[in-house]
Amino acid sequence: MATAAVATPTTRVHVPVWAWALLALAVFTLYLVTQENGALLSTPAAQALHELTHDARHALGVPCH
Ligand SMILES: [Zn+2]
Repeated sequence: MATAAVATPTTRVHVPVWAWALLALAVFTLYLVTQENGALLSTPAAQALHELTHDARHALGVPCH
């Protein structure tokens, strides 16, 4: 008895565009909270953002000073 090769169908998962946009926003927000020190923003804006997110940085264990 010969066994025929059975092709398994490929499973595709459709990720909606809004989910990619949400991921990009989340990554950008994480960057702003954890890493932004004036590379993208002006110095006063980066300083204000740093002060605004200072406790969150320490809560996440991100070194800042
Ligand atoms: Zn700090």
